[in-house]
Amino acid sequence: MVSTHTGIEWTDRTWNPTTGCNKVSPGCTHCYAEAITKRFTQNFPQGFALTLHRERLQEPKRWRKPSRIFVNSMSDLFHEEVPFSFLKEVFEVIRETPWHIYQILTKRHERLVDLADQLDWHENIWMGVSVENQDYIHRVDYLRKIPAKVRFLSCEPLLGALQLDLTDIHWVIVGGESGNRYRPMKLEWAQSIRDQCNSDHVAFFFKQWGGRTSKAGGRLLDGQIWDEMPEAWNLHRQQREEYLTLSNRKSRKARLTA
Ligand code: SF4
Repeated sequence: MVSTHTGIEWTDRTWNPTTGCNKVSPGCTHCYAEAITKRFTQNFPQGFALTLHRERLQEPKRWRKPSRIFVNSMSDLFHEEVPFSFLKEVFEVIRETPWHIYQILTKRHERLVDLADQLDWHENIWMGVSVENQDYIHRVDYLRKIPAKVRFLSCEPLLGALQLDLTDIHWVIVGGESGNRYRPMKLEWAQSIRDQCNSDHVAFFFKQWGGRTSKAGGRLLDGQIWDEMPEAWNLHRQQREEYLTLSNRKSRKARLTA
């Protein structure tokens, strides 16, 4: 069985109802998901071909601990080969598990917008697009059209300077590439995005510098860790505490009456 726990700093676990993908922009060149499928071939008999995992659909219902869940760390949920009916089932599970936050990240901004009207944007969905350089800045305009509680940008691997319009954007993640063939991120690119976020009051998360390994360059930007989360996260955490207290009370009562 593939572990759903993750070392990704901005999430708690991953859920991969689909795996596999194909490359659409320069951020994909050294795709981490593809590398994993090549390394652990026994877990991915279909390789990096888009594969639906219907048997995983109900997994989040079994995870009682409220978590931030990164949907499809090994794929792209809005990939053209994911049938709309399957996408609807994923969104249905999200609706049925309001104690979790679902972080969905795509590079398929056009399909996202095409299908958005037919999907239910529950409160616990955070929707993001990847923006690796200025050529893909238009993905942000597509994202702005999505009625998600939180809209976020993942600028990882950051491959160039970005001039962002952060209107209606709640959270920005920045990270450098890691792996043997990593493309270094410049200090001024990361500083500029942080400064744009600060002046527009948008939460900024600096994930890593990258390098030969993801931890090689550390996480400090100008001597500081930047782990800001969107405002919605604080609210969800309060609700999560209430949920845990309620669920603990219920289990105690069940034990006492057993
Ligand atoms: S969209 Fe994501 S999963 Fe798909 S090839 Fe690009 S980096 Fe990999």
